[in-house]
Amino acid sequence: MAENDNQKLRAALVAEVGEQIVNWNDGTLDDHSHDTWPLSLIRAHRGDLGTRPACVVSPASTEQVQAVLRLADREKVAVSPFGAGSGVCGGFLPDNGSIVLDMRRMNQLIDVDETSLTARVQSGMMGHLFEAALAERGYSMGHWPQSIELSTVGGWVSTRAAGQFSSRYGSIEDMLLGLEVVLAGGELVRISPSPRRSAGPDLRHLFLGSEGTLGVVTEATVRIFPAPESRRLSSFAFSDFESGLEAIRQIVRVGWRPPVLRLYDGHEAARHFGQWIEDDESMLLVLSEGPPAMAAAETEACREICLAMQGRETGEAAVEHWLEERNNVPSLAELIAKGFVVDTVEVTADWRHIGNLYQQVIEAVSGVESLLIVSGHSSHSYAQGTNIYFTFVAQPQDQKDAEATYLECWKRAMDATVRANGSISHHHGVGRLRKPWMRAEHGAGIEVMRSIKRALDPRGILNPGALLPEDE
Ligand SMILES: Cc1cc2nc3c(=O)[nH]c(=O)nc-3n(C[C@H](O)[C@H](O)[C@H](O)COP(=O)(O)OP(=O)(O)OC[C@H]3O[C@@H](n4cnc5c(N)ncnc54)[C@H](O)[C@@H]3O)c2cc1C
Repeated sequence: MAENDNQKLRAALVAEVGEQIVNWNDGTLDDHSHDTWPLSLIRAHRGDLGTRPACVVSPASTEQVQAVLRLADREKVAVSPFGAGSGVCGGFLPDNGSIVLDMRRMNQLIDVDETSLTARVQSGMMGHLFEAALAERGYSMGHWPQSIELSTVGGWVSTRAAGQFSSRYGSIEDMLLGLEVVLAGGELVRISPSPRRSAGPDLRHLFLGSEGTLGVVTEATVRIFPAPESRRLSSFAFSDFESGLEAIRQIVRVGWRPPVLRLYDGHEAARHFGQWIEDDESMLLVLSEGPPAMAAAETEACREICLAMQGRETGEAAVEHWLEERNNVPSLAELIAKGFVVDTVEVTADWRHIGNLYQQVIEAVSGVESLLIVSGHSSHSYAQGTNIYFTFVAQPQDQKDAEATYLECWKRAMDATVRANGSISHHHGVGRLRKPWMRAEHGAGIEVMRSIKRALDPRGILNPGALLPEDE
């Protein structure tokens, strides 16, 4: 019966948009059945992921996206937008019998405005290809997520992503000026780019972080920067994590904005920078760039603050090492196949609460029986606070316990974050993973979000199951 429905849906889509862009072979369906959420990887390894879409449509134009959504809305079939599947929270986990919209064929850089410093780009362009095209013209967006080679511009917008150079250039919400979005019924919304406006609520923020539940992003206009003229590197060892955090706070509170300010706790410093530190010191990396006089002044100011905080200068090489290695991460799927339960948890808090939050999360996750490691670093800082990016690794004796162990680590980390006045996600988003803590994060705001969802997607076809917790 279900296969019958799938066949009818495929035939209707082929009639609507042509057979070239509708695919349902086994390999394509497998490649589009989940994202990089470790729990989906654990389930896929066990062979019980459970769901599979009916077909994958790869639109080449906004009109084709509109046609697919009109059909889906009419037939009340779920549609899950797919960027490149690098999301790590289960934002993409299509239902049985649903349509996947793979946006990667919409991958053109449409325009670079060198006078106004903006670039207009289709949402399915891969991050590194977009940066390379800008670099050819002497520009950069300044958005360098670790997944730049694994993710799309539309994915960045939809998850509220942040890159490794965010302390200077901002995160995606600071960079996004204009948007083109297709709503559930196929209507097109265009938000024209403007440096600023005071003309009612800012609709960009409806779609930023909406994880495919309110519309399909087809185009974005973003800020760009002239490629920096110079770069300065420095690093410092601190006897403890708290002193390093205090150095960062003092740097950013007076207005210095080095793009990279990364502080690793003792565990992570030993793991990544062992040759530059002693005992269980923490390690701070500082990278400044821009006009030479500005980069030099910023580097010197950061140095003075770090030395005043009893930091020990450890030179440029540690930052060079990080620059070389920063996007090399072990394959999660391979670690899971070896029996490890592993993930990262990025949360944020203001300066008053961040030190306690770090302690609380480390302590809470350390209580998991089969835990091997829990550690953290701060990588995105603001005058008001910073994030901590925790990593945990556990190894349950029995593979059957992998899922329960994974969920226990997350529950402990999230509960401790809420208790410590933190915010539950800094940049990976919610997906299916963080839904249980959305009420604690937003309170009655959840009802506002539900009303918006009902208004924009009355038949509930867009990415059902992601982001919003089920009715209590
Ligand atoms: C190794 C690794 C490192 C990472 N490092 C970072 C990092 O440094 N910073 C960071 O922020 N994140 C990071 N991530 C997470 C991930 O790369 C981001 O969440 C990224 O923004 C997802 O982009 P994507 O194109 O892969 O989207 P997908 O994973 O395909 O989709 C993510 C969500 O957005 C929706 N979506 C995708 N495209 C569209 C669209 N065009 N319109 C509407 N909805 C859409 C999907 O339905 C889904 O809900 C990392 C992930 C990995 C695996």
